[in-house]
Amino acid sequence: MFRDVDEFINWLWPKLEWMLLMAGITGGLLGIAYLVKMFTSPSSQGQSQYRYPGLPRKCVCMECGYVVENPGKHCIEIKCPKCGGRMRRLE
Ligand SMILES: [Zn+2]
Repeated sequence: MFRDVDEFINWLWPKLEWMLLMAGITGGLLGIAYLVKMFTSPSSQGQSQYRYPGLPRKCVCMECGYVVENPGKHCIEIKCPKCGGRMRRLE
């Protein structure tokens, strides 16, 4: 077996070093995954401010009743082209 502590440490150290390296790599990957999750999740949460998923087919003016078809945006992001009033989704 081992004659003294130094020999034991010399035998053990490369294995500990390897374990620390693996732990560092694993921790780094977990950290990167966490950061990616942090940066990607706000975009999916950002859509939850809209009551409906996806873009509307029609928006109607809450002031004058003017209808915009396929606005390409959410109704709350556009203004009525006729009177400048607020628009809401027309289902
Ligand atoms: Zn209007």
